[in-house]
Order: sequence, then C-alpha cells, then structure tokens
Amino acid sequence: MKYYLEAHFNLSGYIPEESKDELQKIFNEFVTKTNETRLEGNFEIQKWESKENKLFLKIDSEDSLSPHVAILRLRKQLSNQFGKKYRLGVRGFNFDKYTIENKIEDFPTSEFTLPLTKKLDFKEQNGKKWVKIEIDPEIEEDFIEKGAIERIVRRVGEKISKQLYGSKKEHHEIVWYSGKKELHTDENPTQLMQKANWIQRTNYRNQWILSPTLTTLAEALKQIMVDQIYKPLGFDQMMIPKLVDWSVWMRSEHAEGIYQGGFEPYFVVQPKEPTPEYFEEIADYITITKTIPSEKLAEKVTAPIGGLSYAQCPPFWVWLQGKTLAKESLPIKIYDWSGPTYRYESGSAYGFERVDELHRIETLFIGSPEQTKKIGGEVREKLRLIFDEVLDLEVREARVMPWWLQQSHKEEEMDAEEELVVGTIDFEAYMPYRGKREDSEWLEMQNVSVIGHKYPKGFSVKAEENIELWSGCCGGSFERFLTAFIAQKGIDQSKWPESFLKYIDKLPEPIKFH
Ligand code: ATP
Ligand code: MG
Ligand code: ZN
Repeated sequence: MKYYLEAHFNLSGYIPEESKDELQKIFNEFVTKTNETRLEGNFEIQKWESKENKLFLKIDSEDSLSPHVAILRLRKQLSNQFGKKYRLGVRGFNFDKYTIENKIEDFPTSEFTLPLTKKLDFKEQNGKKWVKIEIDPEIEEDFIEKGAIERIVRRVGEKISKQLYGSKKEHHEIVWYSGKKELHTDENPTQLMQKANWIQRTNYRNQWILSPTLTTLAEALKQIMVDQIYKPLGFDQMMIPKLVDWSVWMRSEHAEGIYQGGFEPYFVVQPKEPTPEYFEEIADYITITKTIPSEKLAEKVTAPIGGLSYAQCPPFWVWLQGKTLAKESLPIKIYDWSGPTYRYESGSAYGFERVDELHRIETLFIGSPEQTKKIGGEVREKLRLIFDEVLDLEVREARVMPWWLQQSHKEEEMDAEEELVVGTIDFEAYMPYRGKREDSEWLEMQNVSVIGHKYPKGFSVKAEENIELWSGCCGGSFERFLTAFIAQKGIDQSKWPESFLKYIDKLPEPIKFH
C-alpha cells in the first residue's frame, strides 16, 4: 500500500522559531523508530514547516505505518513532549490531502462511491491493478481514531468482490434427507387455505389474518415444540422486546447490512412533539378530507429510531449487555414467541410462506463453546424428529452460508471441516405444487445456527473464570411450517398423521360467508 498525506496540526499559539530544532528531533526520531521496527516498507516525513500556529507535514509511506496513524501518535507526542515545554496546546489536526493506493483483485464492473471518500481512481501499473483512494479531507478526527480509514480501504475490496462474485448466499449443501413421503396434494397451499377460509389477506402487503382454525394449528405446533424440544432440553420461555432501537442493531451488526440483501427491516419513527397542538392540523385534515396527509405527517415525525423486531434475538442481548455471567447459570436456554417479527419482503405479493408479519419461535442458547455446540446438535436432532416423524414431512437439511458471514463477505470464517461448529443448517420442505423434487425450489422452514462468539463480543458479555462464551439460535415461523405441511398433506384432516392430530383437540369450524 502506498500513502501520501498532507496534514496540519493546530496549536494554541504561535510556534516559536527556537523550537524548530526540537521539532526536527521529534520527527527524525519518529521516522527512525518507525523504520527500525518494521522489516519491510519505508516511512518518511518528506517535509514539515510551521506557519504561525500551524504545523504542516507531508508524509510518504509505502507498506509501512499508515500516515493517519502516525498523525495520531505524533499528536500525542507533540502535546506531551513539545507542548509542555513551550506551553502550547495541540488543538487537533486537519487533513489537506490524503491518498491511499492499494492493489485490487480486479477493476469494478460499475462505478461506486463511498462515504468520507473524495475520489476513487482505478489504474493498471506493471501488470497490477490498483485503486487510488482520496480521503475526504473534512473527515473528522474521531472517525479516524475509530478506524474509519481502514474500513474505507477494506470496503473498496469488498464492493469489488461483491460486484464480481455477487452475494455469497449460493452456498448450499444438502447434508440430510428424510426420504420420500406420502403426499396428498400437489396444489398451492396458500390457495387451499384461502379457499377453506383458514386465512385471509388484509389490505396491507403480505399481511394475513389467521382464523381460529389456523390459530389452532399454530397452537398445536407450539405444543409439539414445547413437548419435543423445550421440556426435554430444559429451555425456559421469556418475552423479548419487539421494538428495536439502533443501538441493538449496531451491536448485532445488522445495521451495516441494511437493505443489502439479508436485513430488510420496518422502520419506527417518533412524533417530533407528542402534543395535541402539534398534531391538531393533521387531525383536522383527516376529519375533513377523510384522507391521510402523508407528506405533512412525515414532517412531523423523526428519522427512524430503529425498527420492528426482525431477527427476534438481538434485543434479548441487552439483558446481558456488559455483565459477567455466573458459571452456575450456564448454559442459558430460552425460547420466545411473544410477538411477531417484521420483514419488508420486496417484490410482488407472496403467498402465506412469505409474509411481512410473521410468527416465529426463537430458540436461543448461550454457554461455553462445548455447551453451545452440544445444544445446537440436540435442538437440530429434535427439530428433525418433529418435521420427519411428528409431522411426517418430506424434508432435508442444508448447510448454508450464515447471514452474519454473508453480509460481511467473510466466507473464509465458515468452518468447512466439522459440521455445525460455527454455521447454519436450514430445514427445507419439498413443495409438490412447485414441480419435481429434483429441480423445484424447496421451502426453508427453520434454521439452526451456532454463531460462535459474535453476540457475546458484540454486547460485551463475559463469564466467570473467563469462560469463553458462544451462542446459538434457531428460528422458524408457523407460516412456513403450516405452508409446508398443507403443501404435502392437504387440508383433509383424515389424511393427516396421527402424531400431529394428537395435538389438536378439535379444529374450529371456519366461519362461512354468504
Ligand atoms: P428466505 O431466504 O426464505 O427469505 P431467510 O433466510 O430470510 O429465508 P432467516 O432469516 O434464516 O430466513 O429466518 C429464519 C426463519 O424465519 C426461516 O427459516 C423462516 O421459518 C422464517 N421466515 C423468514 N422470513 C419469513 C417470511 N417472510 N415469512 C414467513 N416466515 C419467514
Ligand atoms: Mg429472507
Ligand atoms: Zn436469533
């Protein structure tokens, strides 16, 4: 990497002539030390001069210390060594020009821009491809301190590789199959349920009303999960909040993948002023026109403060955030079905299998790596039993690219050797109405993920005796379970497996419409 920086420090007063030898000494020592401690590369303060209360520097570096890090270190040295002696405070610094040249895999297929970046140029030199990044000189000090420049450089590479190879969701390897099952229909399950008045679309996109009949089936599924998974494995139920503010999605790192294919949240806004006076004109308008003045209303609310529950478990972690868990409390095993989660599913209208308001059970476990891996395996085994034996579904398990690696393009972190060390298994059901087993798309019903240290790290959770903490979680929606079930078994209960019917007292009669 090649760097060139022009920057200046701002001091609290004029820099005296007699201090120049001292400054020269500081810079010489800094350069010598930097070059001595590195085996490769070259670091150089090409030029420096002082003018009034400003100290100008030009720094060149090749495969050595990056000049912005040098500036941060020099700031400290200047205030300690130099500032004290001459009674000058170092007020801060500004960049005048900063370019970073880095080798790239290939040129991007289409142009892009990045925040805090003035310009991106691509060139070929000596058979190698390079990007020249010009950092916006207005970049703020605290962004520099917190690593924004390193992330700009990395982001360029990530964006190019995304353009070249696309999103990495393609990873999909079937690791288990239930075998063929008895199928009682090849009709579209959403249409079957609609015709039977079991479900009904609302006026809002991909939102459905679940009739008493369908709710009874959902309840039966819950009961099956309690009996088969949560009771035998010792999970407790809890209620996780369903409104998620940005601080949570920052720590879970969902925020950085916003609408990048894998995190499509509904946003939540607040009233700018929650008073009758502030909203009076809106109320009057609605009363008189019987319409909503959307634009006027948008002016009266804030930018999103976060959104509605998307992945269910992130807000759980606020509970443990910054705490140290007692050894005796490990492993923690909980499940939640206290409310819906929301996803903005873009595209055309979908069936019951892809809804914007979904009802999921989230299974969450936290413990040492050994405990977490063990529980992940147990939950997976129990889920297999539910789908394969209790519901008698034709299902398979696939190893897929976990969301947290997908969005960060850190594919190499996925453990390829051992199964489910850190990674995701999806359960998928065959959907006869979509075509042949071999070439139709199966429906993802449920995942089991062993996530590793991501969440404990992100939310600063520790454990007694410095036990390493891992977590895992699994999610599956009733909408998907039921769509898969109806797609294979139809709506005629006499054809349903006894092991499922056992959990249904009596299916309420659907309401009839004339
Ligand atoms: P897909 O690729 O089908 O969109 P996903 O990868 O977005 O699924 P996950 O984020 O892994 O799904 O969510 C876990 C589970 O949540 C899924 O296995 C499924 O049961 C359920 N789920 C996700 N999105 C929906 C949806 N829009 N409608 C109903 N259930 C959903
Ligand atoms: Mg999805
Ligand atoms: Zn989760």
